[in-house]
Amino acid sequence: MLGNLFPQSFPYFDGERAFQYLLKQCDLGPRNPGSKGHADFIKMLDQFLLPFNLTVFKHEVTVTNPITQKPVDLTNFLVRFNHKREKRLLILAHWDTRDVADRDPVLANQDNPILGANDGASGIAILMELINILHNNPLINIGLDLLFVDGEDMGVSGVAESFALGTKEFAREYPSPLPYFGLGIDMVGDKNLEIEIERFSYYQAPQYVDKIWTLAKKLQIHQFKHRLGRSIYDDHRVFYLETKIPTVNLIDFKYPDHNHSYWHTLNDIPENCSSESLEAVGRLVTAFIYNEDVK
Ligand SMILES: [Zn+2]
Repeated sequence: MLGNLFPQSFPYFDGERAFQYLLKQCDLGPRNPGSKGHADFIKMLDQFLLPFNLTVFKHEVTVTNPITQKPVDLTNFLVRFNHKREKRLLILAHWDTRDVADRDPVLANQDNPILGANDGASGIAILMELINILHNNPLINIGLDLLFVDGEDMGVSGVAESFALGTKEFAREYPSPLPYFGLGIDMVGDKNLEIEIERFSYYQAPQYVDKIWTLAKKLQIHQFKHRLGRSIYDDHRVFYLETKIPTVNLIDFKYPDHNHSYWHTLNDIPENCSSESLEAVGRLVTAFIYNEDVK
């Protein structure tokens, strides 16, 4: 099925540089909608994108914050390579961070916003480094969309449908041409990285799950574990429900491991992430993109 062109040679993904992009986001502070860090991220990404002279579709929408019930402005960025190409891939990650550390073991911390080094900055760090790669190594046959999505993490804990609001709004207004496949990247910075097969992904796009984990095995990227994990309601789930386009998520929910969790706590900081983990995922995603381009 994979053919003898596989795996292709593909450009180098620089995990160190990606880690600098993670730090750059965290330097802005928490980036929850309505915060200063949120506004500053928009400025930072605008500036970052400018020299690449790309097709950028900036999607601004006002939604109701499910916790506070107040209106809040979201900004999604769709960055398009080969923007007219009908056959195209989508890679997406959320850039917003959660406004409450409601899983923090210290009660007094639970009203504070998280820094989101892993849950937010890690996926975006990979998208930013992919922009460098795609700029220097133009795709030939396919187009590619990078979606920097906002408003993933404002939900009411335990109410899945109140999450991924930015993706929900964006998916309804996705400018044509639409992608044939979407790959989500979330919480991939964990120092102790283990990416199991996320369960919704397996049902939504089994053939792509097979492709991706087979590719990881061939490239000996040991952080990918070929076993079925739990279902995680994330942007990839909402995107699939809205569009029916096959969509997979790369996520390590056990942050840092089975017995401890920094997820939605004030411990979601750069010190608990690593450039090696970003490089492992970035390398896989880069190999996947350039393999799709030759078919
Ligand atoms: Zn989160």
